[in-house]
Amino acid sequence: MIRQYELVAKVKKYNPDADVALLNRAYVFSMRAHGNQMRASGEPYLTHPLEVADLLTELHLDEETIATALLHDTIEDTLATYEEIEKICGKDVADMVEGVTKLSKIDFQDKNEHQAENYRKLFLAMSSDIRVLLVKLADRLHNMRTIEFKKKEESKRRIAKETMDIYIPLAHRIGLYKFKTELEDICFKTLYPEEYAKIVERIDFVVQQDDLVEKVIAHLKAELEKRDIKAEVSGRAKTPYSVWRKMINKNLTFDQLTDIVAYRITVDDMGKCYEVLGMIHSLYNALPGRFKDYISNPKPNGYQSLHTSVIGPFGNKEEIQIRTDHMHEIAESGVAAHWLYKQKNSTDKKQVTAGNQYEWLRNIIDGLQDAGSADEVLENTKMELFRDEVFIFTPSGDLISLPRGASGLDFAFAIHSEVGYKCKAIKVNSKFVPLRTELRNGNVVEIVTNNGVKPTKGWLSMVITSKAKNSINRYIKEQEFEVAINDGKSMLEKALKGKDVKLTDKLIKPLAEKYKWDEVDEVYKAISQGRVSTKSVIEFLFPEEVKPATEEETIEQLETGLSNRKGQKSNSKTGIEGLVDGLVVNISKCCNPIPGERIVGIITSGKGIAIHSRMCKNLTQYENDPERWLDVSWSSQRDDEQVYRTKLRMLLLNNKGVLSDLTNTIFNADVNIVDFNVETQNEDYYGVACEVELKDIEHFGYLMSKLRSINAVAKIERVQG
Ligand code: MN
Repeated sequence: MIRQYELVAKVKKYNPDADVALLNRAYVFSMRAHGNQMRASGEPYLTHPLEVADLLTELHLDEETIATALLHDTIEDTLATYEEIEKICGKDVADMVEGVTKLSKIDFQDKNEHQAENYRKLFLAMSSDIRVLLVKLADRLHNMRTIEFKKKEESKRRIAKETMDIYIPLAHRIGLYKFKTELEDICFKTLYPEEYAKIVERIDFVVQQDDLVEKVIAHLKAELEKRDIKAEVSGRAKTPYSVWRKMINKNLTFDQLTDIVAYRITVDDMGKCYEVLGMIHSLYNALPGRFKDYISNPKPNGYQSLHTSVIGPFGNKEEIQIRTDHMHEIAESGVAAHWLYKQKNSTDKKQVTAGNQYEWLRNIIDGLQDAGSADEVLENTKMELFRDEVFIFTPSGDLISLPRGASGLDFAFAIHSEVGYKCKAIKVNSKFVPLRTELRNGNVVEIVTNNGVKPTKGWLSMVITSKAKNSINRYIKEQEFEVAINDGKSMLEKALKGKDVKLTDKLIKPLAEKYKWDEVDEVYKAISQGRVSTKSVIEFLFPEEVKPATEEETIEQLETGLSNRKGQKSNSKTGIEGLVDGLVVNISKCCNPIPGERIVGIITSGKGIAIHSRMCKNLTQYENDPERWLDVSWSSQRDDEQVYRTKLRMLLLNNKGVLSDLTNTIFNADVNIVDFNVETQNEDYYGVACEVELKDIEHFGYLMSKLRSINAVAKIERVQG
């Protein structure tokens, strides 16, 4: 167990000016408050806050956060109050302790209706100060490290599941990979003890074989020295969880697991990386197809390294990664490296805490405040939290996260709706690209604005975020309404020429009342859209001048006007709007789009339109034929009974009854199975492909959540393109 003076020394090492008195006050207060309390492990309770504080020193956090860690359980578990803490450690620390306390009280295993409220509480608690989340994650990590002392199997599983569902995605989200990987392993061990044991056994077996790892390292070092290359060499087993994930993703059995150890060679400059690679490939036989150059082609998240696999010096398959020290830093902390860097270089701590790197958090919170029903909140939150996302940089280095599939135009609206409205052109990594270009992780995006730009309906097909969609819709509606009112007014003014009246709202009001419209503007709008003729208005205003039967005519016109508008573009059978008359519509079989996802129409050579998902890989072949692209969207007036097909591929643990569990779950989700195939089968897994019919993306999401809740389901993917 770490001691207080050791903790203080650690903080002083990275922050020589740290307020040591604050740390000591927090420590003494916590010690008194917890008194003789014990942990389940039999240790004094105080070890827990100390360990949590210690974990946070690894992240080089400020003394207020460390003090919060020391105090984090006092409000909840002792008689201590907010006021006492405020008096002793100040308002910021007291607020953070209260924030952690609120977070701890949330029960995520609750029924659905309460879940939404829980997520809301979670985000509100975090939004006040992101450091609250860091303390909570450290708290959870220490609790997971000591979870074996919990007596009840049931509560161990419950805590592990909650960690998997909530805290690991959050750790991932803020780039805390250090905490994330350890949490994953402990959860894996708790939830799947047998699989964990088997994998650990296998790893130990491979690693300990004749001290292979040490021998390989020594050998590599000697070869590097011979060539006068200064380099660090290390080798270590991959984590059990990552090995397990690999088994599932690649459908491997235990015996097929070989390259469990990864060797890493770090050098000080990029040229040396290739020099080392040359050495490795001249000494050993490379395995074909395993060399990857992520230095010339960095991964979307900025990861850089050379990867190769060879038959090593002792005849074993070895995976070797070669990178520079700087590349290593990024590989370990990813996006976090970016904001830690910013933090280091900012003089104002407060400003960084509220800075752009937490933009995603603020977006979630905004969403929570806007959304209507509790269910909606839950859906939004889950989407935001667990869906794949992309991290985009502004030219000044701020980080903005968007859902995967977001376009340059989405990015413009994410910055500000005014930037979106005036978005004229977009540069990705300094090159001009079309507004609809899908953004990739790590892109640097610059928006060129111009006051002359006006959003059009076509923009709706270029965006996927609700913020952009809502902004564009709002703009178009306002614009249309304004234009329509002006048009209607001038049409009416012309018609009234020669009459002895002036056009005022007061004059028109009785007409609005006749149609039961609240606003006089509605009359102008109806006139401009041809739903009400100027003739009928004149006849209404000056009834003495005309013969009867006016009213019927007007209403008739009104009705034709409406039905024209409706029937114009939508095709009720396919439920798709924006089609061209006379062309046959086909929902494309490669991607099987379903209502709710973004689609595009491709005019095919056979006088038809093929509807593809915007995500469909086949679309690349039409990239050079923009004239064949048609902006289409799902109609909001779809037939409720209409169903759409989509394909899934799954990997299932080969447990008893798993196939019938699966089909029952699908059936109970009110989803029709059209085709069901067991494609592969071995003693560990089934590979199943299945085609289903369902209503829309929401229905699909519901099905996925039900399928994921089956324990034996190791992997699900939708087959698209
Ligand atoms: Mn705690």
